[in-house]
This record gives sequence, C-alpha cells and structure tokens, in this order.
Amino acid sequence: MKRIAVVGGAGRMGQALAENLNLIDGLVVSALVDPREPGHLFGASYFATLDAVAPTEVDVVVDFSQPESVLASARWCARHHRGLVIGTTGLSDEQQAQVMSAAGSTGIIMAANFSLGAVLSERFAAMAAPYFERVEIIELHHDRKVDAPSGTSITTAARINEARRAAGRVTPEDPTRRFTIEGARGADAGDGVRIHSVRLPGLVAHQEVLFGGAGEGLTIRHDSYDRVSFVQGVAIAVASVDETPGFTWGIDGLIP
Ligand code: NAD
Repeated sequence: MKRIAVVGGAGRMGQALAENLNLIDGLVVSALVDPREPGHLFGASYFATLDAVAPTEVDVVVDFSQPESVLASARWCARHHRGLVIGTTGLSDEQQAQVMSAAGSTGIIMAANFSLGAVLSERFAAMAAPYFERVEIIELHHDRKVDAPSGTSITTAARINEARRAAGRVTPEDPTRRFTIEGARGADAGDGVRIHSVRLPGLVAHQEVLFGGAGEGLTIRHDSYDRVSFVQGVAIAVASVDETPGFTWGIDGLIP
C-alpha cells in the first residue's frame, strides 16, 4: 500500500485526488496538506504544512498547490527520501530550475497534464507537426485559472516545435502587420506556433491543436470534463516515482 500526502489538499484538484486516488487498489491518501482546512478529509489527516507530517506516515508526496510552495515540497522529499509527483503549473524558469536541482537521487515526476487523453493528444500533435504548413493552439480553461497560457499548451507547442525542427519544417512568416486590437494573434510560443488562451466559467481544461496545409486542416481536440480525468495519470506517476530517480518531465514515457 502506498501512502500519499497531497499538498494543496484543500484545493479543487487536491480534493478530487483525495477522493479518487483512494478508490485505486494499492493507494491511500493519508495526509492532506494545505494552509486552508479541506472541506472533506476522505479518511486522511489534515496538516497545515508538510513539515508537520511525519515522514514515516508517507511514501509519496503529490503536489497540486501553487508555484511558490513546490520547492518546499521538493526539499522535504529530498530530505526524507520520498518520491514527489508535481502537477502544479505556472512555475517561473527559476522556480523550475530550483525544483529540478532539488531532485538529487530522489524521484520527481512533474507534468503539465496528467490526463491520459491530453498526453496522447500531445503525441498525436507531434506526429502531425512535420506535415502541415502552420499550426496554432487554442487552450480553454475555467475562469479561476491564474496562469496563461496553460502548461499543457506550452508543452504541446514545445513538442510540435521539436518535431518540426527535426523534420526541417519552417513555418512561413506571419503576414499580419496591422493590429486593430493588440494581442489578436495570441502568444508566440516560438517558431511561429501561436497559443490563444480562453477563460470561461463552466469549462474545465480543453485544448485544440489546429494544423493547416494546402487545401486541408486537421484538428486534434482534447477535453477534460472533470478533474477525475487527471487521477489515472497521477496514479501511474505515484506507482513509478520510486523507480525513476532524478527529475522526469511528463508521463508520456510512463505510458506504453
Ligand atoms: P486551487 O486554488 O483550488 O488549490 C490550490 C491549493 O493549494 C489551495 O487550497 C491553497 O490553499 C493550497 N496552497 C497554497 N499554498 C500552499 C502551501 N504552501 N502548501 C500547501 N498548500 C498550499 O487550485 P487547483 O485548481 O486545485 O490547481 C492547483 C494546481 O494544479 C494549479 O497550479 C493548476 O494549474 C494545477 N493543475 C495541474 C493539472 C495537471 O494535470 N498537471 C491539472 C489540474 C490543475
């Protein structure tokens, strides 16, 4: 049985993980860590900080909190030789580098998206990337999301760019010169791949990758309708983290 401490345990994702990881054989959420008291404990104990948790009560830490607290989780895990699974997004480059260097011999698995559908759609986008002239991404999320563009769209753009570079595919220059409203062409994620961020109540997490070529288009769309969509990927990472020392980005390599 793997005992899990969920950092950010009172949050929307923390509560979804506490409820649903407990339903998976071999996993139990033993601690919810959050400065706010969680609405539901789902059989776990509540702690305001990770330092208050006895390391002997926890095998793996899962962090879905906020960028400023991830390094503390990484340091706690390195100190106590516990694996860490990070879902928190929006880390600055400096925060990201600090977390990576904290890993040491401890396993850290970090992913911008733990939904299997999203991971597969990234794979499919990378497969399609060399064959089309242009590609743009529309990411759509609930209106309480604090970072933009989404971590998933940034990772998707990076994988598309990598595949296009490897194939020698260069995106033609964007002819748009006159902006009636600034920002209308979205954010440039490099090499001409643009990301457009939509924030609306009622949405959870959605993404469309639109490819355009001569006389044809291809759209790869993924929808997370419910936060339970992230649970299976987190469970895969929890199961793998002790066998993957050091820092691992994404769960693509953990899915056959
Ligand atoms: P949320 O605001 O509902 O929850 C965040 C929680 O973290 C809050 O309860 C807050 O009190 C808590 N928190 C803040 N500081 C803390 C600290 N020092 N220690 C412990 N807890 C602390 O947000 P959410 O919707 O649950 O999302 C949480 C994070 O997970 C965000 O970064 C979001 O983008 C990310 N996310 C990632 C994935 C993925 O698949 N990787 C999926 C969904 C959400």
